[in-house]
Amino acid sequence: MPDRIVTATAADGSFAIVAGVTTELVRETQSRHELAPTASAALGRLLTGAVLLGARLKGRERFSLQVAGDGPLRGMTADVALRSPHELAARGYARNGAAELPLNARGKFDVAGVVGRGHLQVTRSFEVGQPYIGIVPLVSGEIGEDIASYLAHSEQIPSIVALGVLAGRAGIRVSGGLVATVMPGAVERTIELLETRAAGMPSISTQIDAGAPAEALAQTLAGELELRFTGEFSVAFVCRCSRRRVERALLGLAPDELAEMARDQKPTEAVCEYCKERYVLTREEVAGLAAQVGAG
Ligand SMILES: [Zn+2]
Repeated sequence: MPDRIVTATAADGSFAIVAGVTTELVRETQSRHELAPTASAALGRLLTGAVLLGARLKGRERFSLQVAGDGPLRGMTADVALRSPHELAARGYARNGAAELPLNARGKFDVAGVVGRGHLQVTRSFEVGQPYIGIVPLVSGEIGEDIASYLAHSEQIPSIVALGVLAGRAGIRVSGGLVATVMPGAVERTIELLETRAAGMPSISTQIDAGAPAEALAQTLAGELELRFTGEFSVAFVCRCSRRRVERALLGLAPDELAEMARDQKPTEAVCEYCKERYVLTREEVAGLAAQVGAG
C-alpha cells in the first residue's frame, strides 16, 4: 500500500487533523541508512512528523525538523517539500544510525534514550524572504510530544501529535501518525476531548498494522464527531542531491585545495548524507573543475 496523507476538519470547525501512513518512506530510509531498530523508530517518527506538518506547505516552501540531543543517536534531521500540489517529498538521516538501546520499561523502543536531552529546531523556508526558525527544548525526546511542544510554544497552536513506528530485526513493519490542531477560538473542551480520545485509542502503529488507512486514523481520534476530508497527498523518499550539486560544492572549495585533489592519484568520492548516494569523480574530472576555477 503506497504512503498517503489526508487532511480533514471537524464538521463544526473546532479542529483539523492531518493523518497518514508513512511505512514505505520509513522503510526506504531504514534500508538506505541501515538503521538499527531504535534509531529507525526515532528517525521514522521525525520523518512522519515532518511529512504531516509538511501538508501545510505551499509552492516551493520547505520544512525541516532537526533534533540535537546528547543521546547515542547524536541528532537527526528530516526535511520535506512539495514535488507537486499533491505529492510530498521527504528525506532524513541520523548522525549515528547504529544507535540502539534495550526496550524501555513499557516494552517500547527507547526513542527518548537514543535521542537524549537537547532541542528541536524547526525551519520553514518560504519562496521569498528569510526562513522562519523556531527552537524548543525537547520535552521527552519521544518526538511526538516534542513536536506538540513546538506547535504550542512557537506557533501558539494546541495540538495532539501521535507518531508510531513498528520495527524489528527484519526492518520496518509499519509507520504513520496524526497531528490534530485546535482551531483558533475553539473551546478549551475541544483539546480535552481530543486528549481523552487519544489516550484511549489503540496506538497508531497497532491501527496501521491492523490495516487502517489514513482516513481511519483520523476518524478514530475524532470518534463520533463528523469529519470533512479536505485534501490528500502521496509521499515519497526523494533526495535533491545530484552529480551537478557535488560538482558545484567542489567548485566552492579553495582553488589550491581543488588542484591538490586533482594531483592526487585516487578518484574523488562524495556520499550524500541524506540518501547515501555515492558520487565518484575521476582525476580528470576534478582537474577539469580545477581548471574552471583557474587553479594550476
Ligand atoms: Zn542524496
